[in-house]
Amino acid sequence: MPTAAAPAEEDAVEQRLRSVKGAREPARDDAAMTCHCEQCRPDDPGPTYTEAFRLECLARQVAALPTLQARRGALDRWGAKHGVDAKVELREALRRVWETRAT
Ligand SMILES: [Zn+2]
Repeated sequence: MPTAAAPAEEDAVEQRLRSVKGAREPARDDAAMTCHCEQCRPDDPGPTYTEAFRLECLARQVAALPTLQARRGALDRWGAKHGVDAKVELREALRRVWETRAT
């Protein structure tokens, strides 16, 4: 009495399962293509994937703080944690955010 499917039938089932699975899971290459960061796409990074955007985003957060004291505190803490260069960089980004707002 045969308890398992015949080999030919088994292969057909395997193949069918594989094709269904393949249809549901995106190919690995496609998944890699969805990342638009500067490392993955050095020639054409997505505008929101860049280091400049990260900095701008941070600057907008600091700019949104309610008081000058709070904004200076945030800038000081950023500098204490990431260094003087990072602090200057953030201060410049903050200035750009303010200038963009004014116009
Ligand atoms: Zn990437």
